[in-house]
Amino acid sequence: MIELKTHSEIEAMKPAGRFVGGILHDLQERTKVGTNLLEIDEFVHQRIVDRKGAQSCYVDYAPDFGTGPFAHYICVSVNDAVLHGVPYDYDLKDGDLVSLDLAISVDGWVADSAVSFVVGKDKDPEDLRLIKCTQEALAAGIAAAQPGNRLGDISHAVGDVARAYGYPINLDFGGHGVGHIMHGDPHVPNDGKAHHGYKLRPGLVIAIEPWFLKTTDEIYQDPKDGWTLRSEDGSRGAHSEHTIAITEDGPIVLTQREGDPISAEFKG
Ligand code: MG
Repeated sequence: MIELKTHSEIEAMKPAGRFVGGILHDLQERTKVGTNLLEIDEFVHQRIVDRKGAQSCYVDYAPDFGTGPFAHYICVSVNDAVLHGVPYDYDLKDGDLVSLDLAISVDGWVADSAVSFVVGKDKDPEDLRLIKCTQEALAAGIAAAQPGNRLGDISHAVGDVARAYGYPINLDFGGHGVGHIMHGDPHVPNDGKAHHGYKLRPGLVIAIEPWFLKTTDEIYQDPKDGWTLRSEDGSRGAHSEHTIAITEDGPIVLTQREGDPISAEFKG
């Protein structure tokens, strides 16, 4: 069931959004060559402990697409891993492509956001292009999230950007409704038909999350941890995500992140 939020509920969701955006910003600043993935996880753990009313959406999460309860505070996906990456004992190397996906509830409201970047000096232009594509697709999806449009307009806008870049699109995982729980209705696929589907209206809060792999739309679950999704052909992936609210005046980004142009464009 799709639940619409009142104006005051959307206001109440903003602290969670700023909290998640702030942590991702800080992680992007401090994640370097040599940073261990478990350090990233511990950083998030500590921030949650220090924040009254904050609760991880990941710890003990056990949906049917994972194996057993998730046991970490953040998803860290590196290189050919693109979604649901389980942090493990690994020191990042020059040129690694890192995707951080973080969902936390604050005072009972969830915010969900993801960012990808390359660490070190040896940045492959192809990796930067892939990341840029997910960012542009996210911005296009948000821009299409206008009252009166349809859900398919968001999906179509996201998919169009991937097509323009020439990246394949996987439809198994996409965006979703956000509220008191992390994964609610509606599902927001990363491609779809314009002018089709649920009619968008003020009060709809969703995560839009384009993620693409360079040369395949096939993924497999890493049997080592039962969660991490990797590209079938070893090609790298990237992921950009914001939780947004549709208002009378258009879409606003709830997961505001300092230095992020998309947050600034849809500040509300
Ligand atoms: Mg997410």
